[in-house]
Amino acid sequence: KKITIAIDGFSSTGKSTLAKQLANVLGYVYVDTGAMYRAVTFYAMQNNWVSENHLDKEVIISNLNHVNLKFQYNADLGFAEMYLNDTNVEQAIRTLEVSQNVSKVAEISEVRAKLVQQQQEMGKEKGVVMDGRDIGTVVFPNAELKIFMTASAETRAERRFKELTEKGQRVTFEEVLENVQQRDYIDTHRDDSPLVQAEDAIVVDNSTLSKEEQFNLVLQLVND
Ligand code: C5P
Repeated sequence: KKITIAIDGFSSTGKSTLAKQLANVLGYVYVDTGAMYRAVTFYAMQNNWVSENHLDKEVIISNLNHVNLKFQYNADLGFAEMYLNDTNVEQAIRTLEVSQNVSKVAEISEVRAKLVQQQQEMGKEKGVVMDGRDIGTVVFPNAELKIFMTASAETRAERRFKELTEKGQRVTFEEVLENVQQRDYIDTHRDDSPLVQAEDAIVVDNSTLSKEEQFNLVLQLVND
């Protein structure tokens, strides 16, 4: 019997690695909701509606109906890539610049309402692994399995730093750590904070488990 799997947690806790592995092994659909918030942010950045110290909230809201988001499965990669208005933005949304602006855009309630609705639509049929911040609480409060991933900010920054430098981005470890901490702060310190651990979520600490141990642990939970 297929189920809905919700994976929430801070940035760079290895949510997407775990979610992709699960989706591939179980034959489920994987939805990376962070990619959707990143794509809207990228769109706003292209139009100069958001930058380090400014946010044209009303303009972003009134242009939301021009933002067409789609996931398209890439068999070579083994996961679905993000398309914004029919352009592949899978790489473009993973830069540090997008990471620095995304929490501000994700804070706009109209943006959240639109994306949550699309996410619920994508997960209507069972057999979905969705990762994000509010999947187990807002998007699918009735998900059969909820995982909440944690890891120290340093562990996560190290991982992000490796990823970004491997892609050729020039960043310092300190910049990445600062960004991780800033996003954690914004993601948890607002009235309608999206990052809340669901009561019935199972906590997986990613700093003490290898990828393999973590995967086996969660697969066991799926099969229980
Ligand atoms: O998961 P990822 O780090 O790519 O997400 C990028 C940002 O998008 C997060 O820092 C958070 O601000 C926002 N986000 C959110 N709700 C989600 C997924 C992501 O607010 N469900």
